[in-house]
Amino acid sequence: MENYSKAVNLLTDADVIIVLAGNKMAKLEGLDLLGKGQFEQDFPKFAQKYDVHSIGDAFDQQISSWSEKWLFWSQLIEQYTNHYQPSEAMMNLLKIIGKKKYFVATSIFGHFFEQAGFNENRIFSVFGDWTLMRCSSGINHGTKDDRQVVQAFLAASKKGQNLADLVPQCSVCGQPMELNLPLNDHFYPDTDANTRFRWFLTGNEEENLVFLELGVDETSPQLFEPVIRLVQQFEPWHLIAADYPQADFPLDIQSKSAGLDADTATLIEQLDKNRDF
Ligand SMILES: [Zn+2]
Repeated sequence: MENYSKAVNLLTDADVIIVLAGNKMAKLEGLDLLGKGQFEQDFPKFAQKYDVHSIGDAFDQQISSWSEKWLFWSQLIEQYTNHYQPSEAMMNLLKIIGKKKYFVATSIFGHFFEQAGFNENRIFSVFGDWTLMRCSSGINHGTKDDRQVVQAFLAASKKGQNLADLVPQCSVCGQPMELNLPLNDHFYPDTDANTRFRWFLTGNEEENLVFLELGVDETSPQLFEPVIRLVQQFEPWHLIAADYPQADFPLDIQSKSAGLDADTATLIEQLDKNRDF
């Protein structure tokens, strides 16, 4: 429990919070990329036809037509994003942040932080966001909101209408559009959000800042590894990590870090219960 009270103290003193949220937090919010049972239950025909058993598998699979891809993607977005209910941990995270300045850097692509009420200008979705689509030509022709496409596909599919005409096309070159995720080498990170994030960090070098790691795992080390060096470099910066043990951190940041070696839900629950701010 010692590290929990240290975490509470670090957070109490912080003026700025940087949330680093990874795929284990996505799972807490209902989106389990590698989960098998749920996928087979939700997408039985698709699972059988392509012999795929998780969302991650399905993303790697070559789906035969654009209309079939878009119907599948639409069903995923409808289920996981449009029907998204924030977890208790997510709602408590918002409460804990309160009026402090914050930024979220996340590998979660399900648009969860935006839907839970975080400021969309304070979120950098490092691996994209599936409510955005991009040109499939491989050339960067920008991104567009795809949620109207999703609704059109779901409605047409329900009525048994032809879906091929609904496949969205790039307004620059006419190629089909695809989800803006790093599923192939067509992915371009959101440079605007990345720039906002960098400026935010630069603008808070003198502030009492805490990085709050939640659910980052081996699928997105780039979200966490550079942070250790930043905490070493900037004296007023600190680190609270839900998933890493204290022993993982270098000696020179031991006193300004708390590694809980637990999970997002447990950490947020403890912070919320014991906080005095
Ligand atoms: Zn294009």
